[in-house]
Amino acid sequence: MPNPKRKHTRSRRDSRRAQNWKLDTVASSACPNCKNLRPPHVVCPSCGWYNGKLVLAPKTKKGKATEGEGGTEKKP
Ligand SMILES: [Zn+2]
Repeated sequence: MPNPKRKHTRSRRDSRRAQNWKLDTVASSACPNCKNLRPPHVVCPSCGWYNGKLVLAPKTKKGKATEGEGGTEKKP
C-alpha cells in the first residue's frame, strides 16, 4: 500500500478543500426576440418565443392587481 511520506499542513489541506465550494454560473443566452436572458434550449419565459416562433403565450399578470411595491406609503 502506498503511503504519503509526511502529513500535509493545515494550510495545504484547507486550500484543497476550499476549491470545491464555488458554484458554476448558470448558463444563459439572450433571446433573439426580446433580448432578455434565458437558459439555452428553453422557451423564453418573458415572451414565449422559441426557435423563431411563438410557441407559448406570454404570461400576463391579470389575477393580481398589485401596484406599488409597498413600504413607501405617504401618511397625511
Ligand atoms: Zn424572449
